[in-house]
Amino acid sequence: MNRNYVPIEGAYRFWFKELSYNTTKIDLMLLEYVKDCFISSNGGNALIDWTESFKLIKNEITTSRNVANREDAATRCFRVKNFLKILPTYEVLWMRKVWGIPSKKCPRCAIEEETWDHLWICNKNRAGDTESEIFKASLDEVLSQNVDIMDKDQKNQWKEDLWEVAATKSMIMGPENLIREITRGLINEKWWRTCKIRGQCKVLKDIFDVYLKEIQMQIWNRRCVETIESERQLGILKDLKRKKKRVDDGEEMMEKAEGEEKSENKKTRKKIKNIIKINLEENKKDDVFRLGIRDRKSWGSKVISNLVNT
Ligand SMILES: [Zn+2]
Repeated sequence: MNRNYVPIEGAYRFWFKELSYNTTKIDLMLLEYVKDCFISSNGGNALIDWTESFKLIKNEITTSRNVANREDAATRCFRVKNFLKILPTYEVLWMRKVWGIPSKKCPRCAIEEETWDHLWICNKNRAGDTESEIFKASLDEVLSQNVDIMDKDQKNQWKEDLWEVAATKSMIMGPENLIREITRGLINEKWWRTCKIRGQCKVLKDIFDVYLKEIQMQIWNRRCVETIESERQLGILKDLKRKKKRVDDGEEMMEKAEGEEKSENKKTRKKIKNIIKINLEENKKDDVFRLGIRDRKSWGSKVISNLVNT
């Protein structure tokens, strides 16, 4: 074993170095999406329970890992894009130069820019569809089903405790409170401190899950139906949005260039996927050979392995 060890180590080191270089690049790319949680957060990220947050984002609270159906895929797709703040809002589409998008302005209220944060506070959302109303409704809904572990007084006390946490200011989302963190799929450790009775944590996870489902259905899906309708009236059709690009000097870039770009993107994405897969396998080897120390601070790859991992 000893005699064979050295050459393996050398070759492996070389390989791993190459891989690390590539994954660092991916880390940097993905980090761009989530840097507000990790870098510009003044240590606030330490308060996020990342393990449970990723479970929530990957829709694994109610759906088991091996089940994969359409509904689950759609939910997960929404939650991941929502977490990365890449839902196709007008801000995102404008930045991508999608054809027909006149500006970053919200297509519904036409007052503010349609950023990720604006989605939840747009005055065109229905009156009862605020985050706090939806959170309250989710809380009531789940609690009405879980009668057995708490009596009425305990339930009321817990509701009060949860409301107190809900009103706490978020460390990573500027002026927002902890409900906005849940809207993004992030579970703050502070929530768990309200769980004093056995089984409460599980109930709380269900509440977050129901909340995110409602946020998606009542706010995002409704927003999409309304936006598609107003786009249809303006002649901005899905097909054209896909095929054409906005060009600022007035001329439109045609399908072909876009097609080429797409296949190029596809190739890159495939490459990245492969690298991630290899890296994950290599990481396992890393444990066996005990070569090098896994970089615990490599948040980017943590995010990737959590989101891309099957
Ligand atoms: Zn709006």
